[in-house]
Amino acid sequence: PVSRAGHLLDDLNPAQRRAVEHAGSPLLVVAGAGSGKTRVLTRRIAYLLAERDVHPGQIMAITFTNKAAAEMKERVADMVGARARSMWVSTFHSMCVRVMRREAKTLGMSSNFSIYDSDDTRRLITLVARDLDLDPKKYAARTLAVHISNLKNELVDPETATAQATNDLERRVAEVYTVYQRRLRESNSLDFDDLIMRTVELLQTFPDVAEHYRRRFRHVLVDEYQDTNHAQYTLVRELVGKTGGEIPPAELCVVGDADQSIYAFRGATIRNIVEFERDYPDATTILLEQNYRSTQNILTAANAVISRNPNRRDKTLWSDLGEGEKIVGYVADNEHDEAAFVANEIDRLVDGGEVNNSEIAVFYRTNNQSRVFEEIFIRLGLPYRVVGGVRFYERREVRDALAYLRTLANPEDTVSLRRILNVPKRGIGDRAEACVAAYAERERISFAAALREAVEDRVPMLNPRSRNAIAGFVELMDQLGEMVEREDDVADILEAVLEKTGYRAELEASEDPQDHTRIENLNELVTVAREFTELELPEGADPVPSLPAFLERVSLVADADSIPDADSDGVVTLMTIHTAKGLEYPVVFCTGWEDGVFPHMRALGDPAELAEERRLAYVGITRAQRRLYLSRALVRSAWGQPSANPASRFLGEIPQDLIDWRRVEPSRSAPTAATTWGRSASSSGGIASRGLSRPAPGKPGWKDAPALKLEVGDRVTHDKYGLGRVVAVDGAGLRATATIDFGGSGTVRLMLIGSVPMTKL
Ligand code: ATP
Ligand code: MG
Repeated sequence: PVSRAGHLLDDLNPAQRRAVEHAGSPLLVVAGAGSGKTRVLTRRIAYLLAERDVHPGQIMAITFTNKAAAEMKERVADMVGARARSMWVSTFHSMCVRVMRREAKTLGMSSNFSIYDSDDTRRLITLVARDLDLDPKKYAARTLAVHISNLKNELVDPETATAQATNDLERRVAEVYTVYQRRLRESNSLDFDDLIMRTVELLQTFPDVAEHYRRRFRHVLVDEYQDTNHAQYTLVRELVGKTGGEIPPAELCVVGDADQSIYAFRGATIRNIVEFERDYPDATTILLEQNYRSTQNILTAANAVISRNPNRRDKTLWSDLGEGEKIVGYVADNEHDEAAFVANEIDRLVDGGEVNNSEIAVFYRTNNQSRVFEEIFIRLGLPYRVVGGVRFYERREVRDALAYLRTLANPEDTVSLRRILNVPKRGIGDRAEACVAAYAERERISFAAALREAVEDRVPMLNPRSRNAIAGFVELMDQLGEMVEREDDVADILEAVLEKTGYRAELEASEDPQDHTRIENLNELVTVAREFTELELPEGADPVPSLPAFLERVSLVADADSIPDADSDGVVTLMTIHTAKGLEYPVVFCTGWEDGVFPHMRALGDPAELAEERRLAYVGITRAQRRLYLSRALVRSAWGQPSANPASRFLGEIPQDLIDWRRVEPSRSAPTAATTWGRSASSSGGIASRGLSRPAPGKPGWKDAPALKLEVGDRVTHDKYGLGRVVAVDGAGLRATATIDFGGSGTVRLMLIGSVPMTKL
């Protein structure tokens, strides 16, 4: 049926067409940004359904965000109709939740397990570390959490971690990891990393389960393959199966770009893309070279930056959209000036009718940079939306309400239970909680079970007042629990929680204006729950009682899922570059191009991290379709202290004839930033007049400071060279020197005695 295939293949170039039609062996599509990888993946699914008689239930496609999954599904449905609905298109995490709910019993869990997000994880690790008597200064919960997460991403279980530990830190981590895993199991809960790790465990330990999924999914497709970690890689392998097994392996198609790998901190490794052909020996690789997204100037800039990275395979990427506008560069006095420039420019473009707000995005390196933009956008009445940052679901009152729901769905969920045990205050103090916890630990029963024992007066050391309070709480939860058993609507259960616990009443009685906002947020949550109840179940989906399904949905909401739809509500979108992966906008403002901001301070002096930052720059630039703005500020307040930042080294890597500088750095003799500091420029040897950093008022200046004591990794700011990071320290006393990477200004070796014009940050 040439006509239908023609329709699906028409607007593809020959290489893309080959990728869509390819059959019979694993396929890797590697290509630079905007070359149509995601388009190929979506089109391939439609083609499988329309031309190769594949049943939608045989397709599993994995995207990086839930939003991308929803879009992909919708696009396929547009092409082939409603039968697209029984495909599995989801993120790794959502896919694993689905598998684990079905197979929980096999792993000795019950299917109503809770999913712990990073905040819950940190709480539980804090509890564990306290029980193990670890010094919280030496072993911060956050650090322990990172180590444990890394182990899980590498599929290292607690026993192996214990056996492999070679130093004190590793031994401690293994110890915490062991107890943490036990507590998770006792709480019938999984953390984010477990979702993947335990699914792999499931498939590897139970061949019949693996076989079930292999029989079902004959096509596995993965987008953004460069950002998969070892656990996800193994999961894909297990799903696909091996040749020579009972069932022939599924057809695998992955697409990605090693230059866009930006999640190394979550264990992602480009090894998976680089060694695809070794992992799947009969694999076919297809390269795409034409970019359909950006003008040539934008592409040339992106290529110039990324080509500085060592050990990469060079790619050709071209566009026939013409040279386009020049990139606009702007050097601001400070971050407020930068935000004002962005706002004015947006105003100008929108007024001129060239674009509307929803076609514009503003990127920055870290979430905290959004505040300055928000302030000025609000002042100017420019509609915007920030993606990420402190999110709705991270607000205290929302988390409290959800903790009630989670406790009701899964009484073994100790973290949630202990969170709300005395919220609102009902007379169950820390001491009483500790007694119950100790009893639970000793008797090896859950915290919830121990609470019931407490009511029966079997928990020692508990005073009668606390016992009564606990009895009241258990009674309350039992009442609410009946609603759950009856499978009442989530929204009704939530309403009952807010009423019966007195949570809402307490906020209503409060004088604190913030509590008013809290009530609004809770009402918003009730609305979310109502909408959820009214949702239609997709065809082929398992009917799950609405409470667990609702909680699952809420736990898997990610930053990128709240990105406004294109041309929806006419707002400018603000987000980090990480969140922008895979997206495109006609107009992009990339802000904060300063060494120490972007590239991030952490990356100065660390080649691997610097390479990752450069990939991030590549991702940022290549989101732009027609207009790209790059800006930096001479002075930026970070951690409450203004510091003078040199230009990002990445700026210098872009051919300067591509950039139209609207404003450049004023000549160095001009007193550029003195006013920002609120102190006269005359007081301190002309440092300010050179526009460079100095200590905040009230702190001793460098002249009074003793000789600097530096260690490798310390961050410094130097009057002449700006921000830097210590990469080596040599000698002692009079001979002490430090080698410091000052980014754009190069790497310099400095004596550390006398009045060093440098401050440690
Ligand atoms: P990234 O690496 O950023 O994820 P990508 O390789 O996935 O990018 P897509 O998002 O699939 O690229 O495509 C980029 C843009 O180019 C999209 O707007 C897409 O619709 C368009 N495009 C891709 N291929 C073609 C084509 N053959 N003809 C016209 N437009 C195309
Ligand atoms: Mg893509």
